[in-house]
Amino acid sequence: MSSFNVAKFGGTSVANFEAMSRCAAIIENNPNTKLVVSSACSGVTNLLVELANGVQDQVRRSELLTQLAQIHDSVLEQLEDATQAASDVYEILDTVTSLAEAASIQASKKLTDHLVACGELMSTHLLTQLMKERGINAARFDIRDILRTDSNFGRAEPELEQIKALAKQSLVPLCQDFVVVTQGFIGSDAEGNTTTLGRGGSDYSAALIAEAVEASGLEIWTDVPGIYTTDPRIAQKASPIAEISFSEASEMANFGAKILHPSTLIPALRHDIPVFVGSSKEPEKGGTWIRHQVESSPLFRALALRCNQTMVTLRSAKMFHAYGFLAKVFEILAKHKISVDLITTSEISVSLTLDQTDTSGGAPQLPAEARAELEELCSVEVEHNLCLVALIGNNMSGSKGYAKQVFSTLEDFNLRMICYGASPHNLCFLVNESVAKQAIQKLHTELFEK
Ligand code: ASP
Ligand code: MG
Repeated sequence: MSSFNVAKFGGTSVANFEAMSRCAAIIENNPNTKLVVSSACSGVTNLLVELANGVQDQVRRSELLTQLAQIHDSVLEQLEDATQAASDVYEILDTVTSLAEAASIQASKKLTDHLVACGELMSTHLLTQLMKERGINAARFDIRDILRTDSNFGRAEPELEQIKALAKQSLVPLCQDFVVVTQGFIGSDAEGNTTTLGRGGSDYSAALIAEAVEASGLEIWTDVPGIYTTDPRIAQKASPIAEISFSEASEMANFGAKILHPSTLIPALRHDIPVFVGSSKEPEKGGTWIRHQVESSPLFRALALRCNQTMVTLRSAKMFHAYGFLAKVFEILAKHKISVDLITTSEISVSLTLDQTDTSGGAPQLPAEARAELEELCSVEVEHNLCLVALIGNNMSGSKGYAKQVFSTLEDFNLRMICYGASPHNLCFLVNESVAKQAIQKLHTELFEK
């Protein structure tokens, strides 16, 4: 395999000139880095999302546009020769202005994707120029030329075969001669409309691109020095993990450890590409390697927390000794494209949590039409303000006695929807939002600090 490294930089890593310079130093440090995938500058996507949602108030709209200009200007001002980059960035800002006006009249998902994609389109102009000025033979590439997706705006699905074929034609050859800088998060459908992979999707893009070019390594540079046993902002004694398996890391990402977009590891795993996660602010601190084979597989690896959970409980006396109830429930959920996350059942009831499926953030909602159809079948109760706590580890379903340790540590907490046994890599449950951090702290002390 070639030693072809892909480096991805998140929004905070490319927040301003200094941050971008640190990225350039990281790129210079690894001569195998042929491809750089960048997010939008920190804060930019949020501003663009607000505009895309439709800002009628003209004053507010121009405030947002000014903020966008300022973020990019601050980098342009520090470049040696900003002429070309400035004209490229300002052309995109003009597009943003007109799309924002259109969105204020009528917002749509398609328009939103076109608008929010502008963040990555701008940051890559800046990063490319900055790299050139440091003497790196950099070239900017529009990833929409190869990152083909379906037309599911806001959460598009990649078309893997096409991406691979297109990458072979145009991207791989370019990487022979240049350090190519391209956009995360965005793609285009068969008609050439701009699409996005969902918020935080640039990690996923980077992995898809790494797979397409058959990279030998993928570095994800962010603002934390790797993966920790839990979020150090919640448990002060959280410790860094040097090496973790794909399955454990996928569980962590799925369960809300906000370090990686949950889909990121799928292409990496498919192609067996080792993934490194580190902080571009403190690269000397090292980070976490995610690989297929790891040296140690401890019973307890990490604790993840995901808030904004929506729990739906369905009850039907008819379910008693009946068959087909769950099938009907899932038929309705499928019809409304509602993805279910956790599920627990008893004879006459089933509780489930809804997957986060859109870019808006907040708790997922049970759509009214779906609720009405479910109510024809059973009673429906929806609860919010819940957080999911996940304990991640190895061979958990085959180990004795640890459930006692977990549950006795949490004897003062009201645990809901305990899911245990289906995966060897996790045990998870819901707790009320108000006590979630406390639950993590207690568990961390008991399981990871002794
Ligand atoms: N810029 C996009 C976002 O903020 C994608 C990313 O950074 O991963 O969601
Ligand atoms: Mg991100």
